[in-house]
Amino acid sequence: MPITILPQKVHIGKLSVVFTWDDNLSRQIDIIAPLFIEHNWRCTFYVNPGEDVFKHRYYKGYKALAEKGFEVASHGYSHKWMAEISNQEREFEFSESIKEISKHIHHHPITFAFPAHNSNDNVVAEAKQYHLETRNTLANSRYFRIQSATDIAELTNNLEVAITHGNNYVFSGHSIITETEYLNNEKGEGWQPIRVTLLSTLLNYIENSGEKIEVITFAQASLKEFIRKHNLFKEGKYEFNDEALTELEKVGVNAKTLNTLL
Ligand SMILES: [Zn+2]
Repeated sequence: MPITILPQKVHIGKLSVVFTWDDNLSRQIDIIAPLFIEHNWRCTFYVNPGEDVFKHRYYKGYKALAEKGFEVASHGYSHKWMAEISNQEREFEFSESIKEISKHIHHHPITFAFPAHNSNDNVVAEAKQYHLETRNTLANSRYFRIQSATDIAELTNNLEVAITHGNNYVFSGHSIITETEYLNNEKGEGWQPIRVTLLSTLLNYIENSGEKIEVITFAQASLKEFIRKHNLFKEGKYEFNDEALTELEKVGVNAKTLNTLL
């Protein structure tokens, strides 16, 4: 049966700015999520539920974040390079990850991020049999990989270029390094962590960037592009017809999810 939703969190007229963080790392829960909460924004965490740190330590923290509206989605079951493994292994990585995230987090992982951005057209097509969207294939978007050496000018310039061109902006990073650790040449946590000061400066900058953009999760940004593609925005409302609902159902998105996310 068709459903109608009044937009509350996702606005079709705005560009999406999305922050994604990979690899189940503790500072995502302890430092990154609180920074987003300060701004009343949400971001996306791509986890590997097959890893011990997720299963035994962090899943509770991620579950609490999911309950607050953060997206906890799939980065594969055990962080395999998806274009380099067999069909059977890939099927396992997709389906087992969905199963475990659903079990531990109590929500279906709607989107997928390829470990090490390792993908090709075939595996993207496969991923889309399980998920609404993959991190590197959102329509009308620009991408930026956050590195430790990234500076604030690089971050804001890239964002401005995206806004000027009317593109969504998708950041991908792993974790955080404190200013003291950075200055002492310490590693911080995860692959190429961003400095805490840079992230908070960037979030403040975005807060003052006006009404053209909104910071939302990757799942929300993906739904927005789905709505655009299928012309489901009519007279100020999202009108999901049976065909669209059937398509969404296949990737684990039901009416309740739509109401929660939109
Ligand atoms: Zn990764």
